[in-house]
Amino acid sequence: MSPGVATALADRLGPGGWLPAGDIAAHLTDFRKVFTGSALGMARPTSTDEVAAAVRICADLGVAITTQGGNTGLSGGAIPSGDRPTVLLSLARMHTIEAVNAARSTITAQAGVTIEALQQEAVAADRLFAPDWGARGSATLGGAIATNAGGINVLRYGNMREQVLGLEVVLADGRIWDGLRALPKDNSGFDLKQLFIAGEGTIGIVTRAVVRMHSLPTAHRTAFAALRSLANLDELFALARSHSPGALSAFELLPEIGVAQVVGRYGIIRPVAAVADWYVLLRFSGADRIGDNLLTMLSTATDAGLVLDAVVAETTAQEDNLWLLRDELTATRSFGGFGVKYDLAVPPDRIAAFLRTASDAVEHISPGSLPYAFGHVGDGNLHFTVLRPGDDATLEADAGDLRAAIDRIVWDFDGTISAEHGLGRELRDRIAGQKPEVELELMRRVKRALDPEGTLNPGVMLPDD
Ligand SMILES: Cc1cc2nc3c(=O)[nH]c(=O)nc-3n(C[C@H](O)[C@H](O)[C@H](O)COP(=O)(O)OP(=O)(O)OC[C@H]3O[C@@H](n4cnc5c(N)ncnc54)[C@H](O)[C@@H]3O)c2cc1C
Repeated sequence: MSPGVATALADRLGPGGWLPAGDIAAHLTDFRKVFTGSALGMARPTSTDEVAAAVRICADLGVAITTQGGNTGLSGGAIPSGDRPTVLLSLARMHTIEAVNAARSTITAQAGVTIEALQQEAVAADRLFAPDWGARGSATLGGAIATNAGGINVLRYGNMREQVLGLEVVLADGRIWDGLRALPKDNSGFDLKQLFIAGEGTIGIVTRAVVRMHSLPTAHRTAFAALRSLANLDELFALARSHSPGALSAFELLPEIGVAQVVGRYGIIRPVAAVADWYVLLRFSGADRIGDNLLTMLSTATDAGLVLDAVVAETTAQEDNLWLLRDELTATRSFGGFGVKYDLAVPPDRIAAFLRTASDAVEHISPGSLPYAFGHVGDGNLHFTVLRPGDDATLEADAGDLRAAIDRIVWDFDGTISAEHGLGRELRDRIAGQKPEVELELMRRVKRALDPEGTLNPGVMLPDD
């Protein structure tokens, strides 16, 4: 079977279209180096027709396909498990931006284009492509759609689901669904594109998309504030929103232990003199006078005793430094060791209470382990990690109990254990505890209807029956 599929794909995809297993080691481990897999080789199509042909070849030979974009996903969904003969299908050579329509504020692009390239293309058209996060230079449009990625601008512009107007998808049997209609209104039956968004490559391969651009804000200002106490978080968020109707575009929580780590690693000057347990990085985007609104808001927050100290970036370099503090928290989040990691969400007004409850549970189950959290708290989204620098063995022994307890707390707070990174291989079994059986059954039926042979991304997202 293996030589057959390799020869057939190499013949069909031409020079550069097929890489043997020995040449793709970097693609078989995920960004965090948590998941490693194996594949027969990597197919590298350049067009939708080539993707469709590759899928037909694999389906005919009973070979599974794992789709990969930039391999920046944080739940292992782009790494084949190796349980079945699998071809890795990379969209890396499909990176053409096909059309930018400034009048309609849309971009049409192939799925392998990066988020950063879309952002730059939008700015060139005096528009904004809003999705933005630390992996922008590698993460692809297709991967972002398949995980419904979000990032720092979700608060104002929504996640990928809100950006996608139309999709083209190669189905599990190799047929192509052209759903690229980019109509603001189209109530002609099921909105099928929504099934593929956050589908993690399990029911189709996204090959092209039409996405929305927004007006480019004429001004944006970023501030960094040291919180007097985590208990003030909610009040500060409410204050920020009331001082900037519609203009609060980011509201991020940063912990001192993470800030100290990034400051040390990159030699950045601390933004404020006050050292607090928690900081907030927030941004107003809109018209020119938003800077005044931000200053007024911060001075009100200081007078009310919500913040100890705050600074507003005056230059682009200062602003970039503030965002570096946030961008690098993901990469430094395990402090080079083992971590029990979460990308969870709870209702935004319950963040502080959740953190208190979860931290108490950590101390009870694994005394001395360190709860560490940061994230898009304006969306209720926390990247919560339990660490034990220098003593991975104890934490690894406690990990099962910690996961069971924290999962339960998240659900007791009406939250989710996957806010924006998807389920992948990491959470697919645990999600069964979050969703009602009827919901799991509907998900399985969708999978069976669209991929009856289980060709696409086996072992990802869906818990076994
Ligand atoms: C430093 C860093 C910071 C991050 N910050 C954020 C953040 O703030 N917010 C956030 O939401 N995410 C964040 N992420 C994770 C984010 O989910 C990924 O960056 C992105 O969504 C995945 O894009 P990718 O092209 O790398 O996909 P991959 O990692 O290659 O794949 C991810 C999943 O999508 C599937 N897939 C990929 N391409 C396709 C396709 N064309 N069709 C169908 N399925 C496909 C894969 O099979 C896999 O299941 C961060 C990641 C990193 C490394």
